[in-house]
Amino acid sequence: MNWFLKGLKKGIKTEKFPKTNPIDIAPWSTELNGSGNVNCPTKAIDNGSWNSERCIYCRRCYPLYSPTGNIDIFKVNKKNNIFRRSFYVYPIDIGTCGGCNLELKLISSPQYDMTRFGIFFTNTPRHADALIIMGVMTEGMKEPLLNAYEAMPEPKLIIALGVCAISGGILGTGSQIEPDVIIPGCPPNPYTILKALIEAKGDKE
Ligand code: SF4
Ligand code: SF4
Repeated sequence: MNWFLKGLKKGIKTEKFPKTNPIDIAPWSTELNGSGNVNCPTKAIDNGSWNSERCIYCRRCYPLYSPTGNIDIFKVNKKNNIFRRSFYVYPIDIGTCGGCNLELKLISSPQYDMTRFGIFFTNTPRHADALIIMGVMTEGMKEPLLNAYEAMPEPKLIIALGVCAISGGILGTGSQIEPDVIIPGCPPNPYTILKALIEAKGDKE
């Protein structure tokens, strides 16, 4: 059967999210809940409270702490509804393991289909509304990161994707550019990424 007929037979497979909550999330990239002190390698658990911005999801704290399935672990400190109709994001890898890149790429797949929310990738910072930073700050990427930031037109948003870019995780230090949007996870869940981007562009869905 050719792909066209196969598509007609199977119908639309794109998630209804965010109007309907996802049912097939990978739990270990969601909020952790529990109590007790754990020898957490990144100090994400300190005095019995969990800090999403430091968690590398190594599961060392299980079963004292376990995932709740709550994907709303992102923070949008600044949004701009000028981007409501079209929001162009420019991803930059400043020192990743490749995990964040894969999950970010997934939001453009037919399952998540970011374009229906007016979100697009651009391959030049000149056309970008938001810079998505992934990975720890490596020496060789300091200048390219700064150049990309300066090449972007105003207004612009800075998004830190993944614990490496936010706090350095277990590998090093974060991007050192103050982010407007923080998307925790190691790597972040595609649903979390999509939901954070939808909110950052000033659109609820
Ligand atoms: S999963 Fe690992 S990094 Fe995250 S809180 Fe538990 S022990 Fe710490
Ligand atoms: S946050 Fe995790 S998945 Fe993303 S680059 Fe760092 S180590 Fe890799």
